[in-house]
Amino acid sequence: MAEFTLIDAIGERCAVARDDVRLGIGDDAALLAVPAGQALAVSTDTLVAGVHFPQSTKAYDVGWKSLAVNLSDLAAMGATPAWATLALTLPTAERTWVEAFADGFAALAREFKLALVGGDTTQGPLSITVTVHGFVPEHAAVRRAGAHPGDVVCVTGTLGDAAAGLRQLLVGDGAAEHRNPSAPDFLEVRLNRPTPRVPQGLVLRGRASACIDVSDGLVADLGHICAASGVGAELDAPALPASPALLALADDTERRLLQLAGGDDYELCFTVAETEAPLLLADLARSGCAATRVGRIVAGTDVVVYDAQRKPISLPRRGWEHFA
Ligand code: ADP
Ligand code: MG
Repeated sequence: MAEFTLIDAIGERCAVARDDVRLGIGDDAALLAVPAGQALAVSTDTLVAGVHFPQSTKAYDVGWKSLAVNLSDLAAMGATPAWATLALTLPTAERTWVEAFADGFAALAREFKLALVGGDTTQGPLSITVTVHGFVPEHAAVRRAGAHPGDVVCVTGTLGDAAAGLRQLLVGDGAAEHRNPSAPDFLEVRLNRPTPRVPQGLVLRGRASACIDVSDGLVADLGHICAASGVGAELDAPALPASPALLALADDTERRLLQLAGGDDYELCFTVAETEAPLLLADLARSGCAATRVGRIVAGTDVVVYDAQRKPISLPRRGWEHFA
């Protein structure tokens, strides 16, 4: 498959019409119109085969995930997705792989009415870099800085599923033998097709005091909110939301580590003033993904995790880090 056929195959699959795309794929640059009164929110994430996803990951899932992790960053800012560019490095130009990849990317692009407006295609070890662009009224964007002592710490969805799914894939486990091979496994779906919490980010807009998406692990990512806000945080381990699949798979200690330090969940961790928390949590539940209170912001600098007896738990690691 030649480079241009390949770009056409991607472009056709990802066709989403938007008035603000004055010129899309096909020229030296796209021409895009940002609506008056909105700030442009821009974020880039790279996925490298064997680092960010197992080499065995299906092309559709790689396409899905490469857009999902970027949309998750827009969600964490409270931005509405609009456009993306895609820099694709492929070892070989295999038609079936590229088409399945583009289908996975396009499924999410269509869901959020996001237009693919350009990119670059090169040969090399499999690596995908997506840049997303979204809109947010500047004053309403939710930053990492802004958490205050007394605020409640909450997370959307459930934690630890993706890390459990990865462990299950890499080392296998007893449960795998009892699974129906034709039914998609919940934990592996959570790993390979994360749901970007875009609607929830829009609910948080202008209301949460700080927000981050949980990509590296809750303790590590909440630590970024704390560093940016100049505060500390306390987490209550028994309050951490767990899916039935995770509960069935792991014992208490194991589960806690996956929930606190496992990466790749792409849930939102946010803080909100105590008085505003009940209404915000009710609005989130109505948005299709409930959030749970998991702790509070305090004066200090550290994230401390407490068990049911309010004894601090020490963790062997805080989350995923490159170059660590
Ligand atoms: P140039 O040589 O000017 O950089 P290219 O030949 O790389 O242009 O790309 C031609 C057009 O196709 C450009 O509009 C570019 O944005 C788009 N494009 C290239 N690769 C991709 C891709 N993987 N996904 C989407 N658009 C792409
Ligand atoms: Mg080029």
